[in-house]
Amino acid sequence: MKKKIACSTCGLFLTYSPLDDNEKVVCPRCNSTLTRRMDSVTHMQFSVGICIYITLFLTLTFPLLTFTRFGVSGTISLLNAPEMLQKFQLPLLALFVFLTIIVLPVVFVTGVLFVYGHKVFNLKPTILTLLALKIIFRIKPWLMADVFIMGLIVTFIKLVGMASVYLDYAVYSYCFYAFFLMYFISKVDKYSLWNIYKKIEYPVEIKNQNYLLSGYEQCIHCLNVRKKSKVSIRCDRCHSKIDKTPSSKRNQAAWALLFAALIFYIPANFYPMMIFSIFGKNEPQTIISGVIYFLKNKEYFIGLIIFMASICIPLIKIFLLFWVYWTTHFESKYSYRSSLKRKKFFVFAESIGRWSMIDVFVVALLVALIQLNQLSSIIPGKGVIYFCLVVVCTMSSSLLFDSRMLWLRSDMHGENLEKKYGSNKAS
Ligand SMILES: [Zn+2]
Ligand SMILES: [Zn+2]
Repeated sequence: MKKKIACSTCGLFLTYSPLDDNEKVVCPRCNSTLTRRMDSVTHMQFSVGICIYITLFLTLTFPLLTFTRFGVSGTISLLNAPEMLQKFQLPLLALFVFLTIIVLPVVFVTGVLFVYGHKVFNLKPTILTLLALKIIFRIKPWLMADVFIMGLIVTFIKLVGMASVYLDYAVYSYCFYAFFLMYFISKVDKYSLWNIYKKIEYPVEIKNQNYLLSGYEQCIHCLNVRKKSKVSIRCDRCHSKIDKTPSSKRNQAAWALLFAALIFYIPANFYPMMIFSIFGKNEPQTIISGVIYFLKNKEYFIGLIIFMASICIPLIKIFLLFWVYWTTHFESKYSYRSSLKRKKFFVFAESIGRWSMIDVFVVALLVALIQLNQLSSIIPGKGVIYFCLVVVCTMSSSLLFDSRMLWLRSDMHGENLEKKYGSNKAS
């Protein structure tokens, strides 16, 4: 018997044949993965989850980097980076670093395993299950262990030129931690996890068409589908508010955050990211002067990474989002091709944004490590706060944008979706 599913990326209602293990359903129109069969994955995830806890515990126990300069040594652990930022009156930045690399990943893994537990041990879902599901998918975009590793590499190479520096045990365990975490995240299937809590009751009769134009609506938080309701604005499954599509509030917020990011980008480049203090002499370093420093020292690879992460990626992301939002709202010509092109650019912009955080992590690590008092120290500059705001604003902007908007108008202009996507196979 065919199963039903609704694509939350493009709004297509479709049917598919039951899946075998490891098979997935891909939307034939926008190429988004909609769900996958997770029987064998579930047990595997428990083992991977335990590996994540162990490697994180080891990382927090052992030192991360050891550094010797002018005969004075310094050692830092993973927790020292947010601790030092806090000491320099940057509590929000410290909290952000602490949350994205340690706390949120642990909450995410624990939440997912808790929900899987219901399936494995045949438990009845409760309000706690609902709470866990709501939390895990809201924090998922903010897990940045992989970006932190890149920051660690850049910091290490930056320090090699200045003094003798050693990678300690925690670096290796952190690499394993990040690897396991990325693997764990890649296997998490939103659709199946929410179905553990409560299955979606699909309409009896569905056509392969845009559900938004057929009198249905979908909750973007839990993917539940229902007939458009005038009585309740809350989702029957997760009780979140169901936004209308096109939602003027969400789109206005997406635009506003994009403009905010553009404004913050100016002070982020103008103010120093960090201030080097050597023998009492202060040397501020902005993003650009940091890149020039590496190029002068012939460290082209690191120079290129910082240039890409701190200058190109935020600009490319802001530009691409602007273009996607603008053409979605104001272009008069709509076609399947233009929607697909916009979707590809949107997904690309969404995926690169978090890598901008490299420079913020580098500053956090350097500030934590280089505190040799009078001899040499590094103080975080104002630029790092603005830069962090640029990343947070662009990320929040793309998270708020409703991608179904990309397809809605071309669907309104009458593509025959049923004829085109009449038979959908699982792949
Ligand atoms: Zn789709
Ligand atoms: Zn919902």
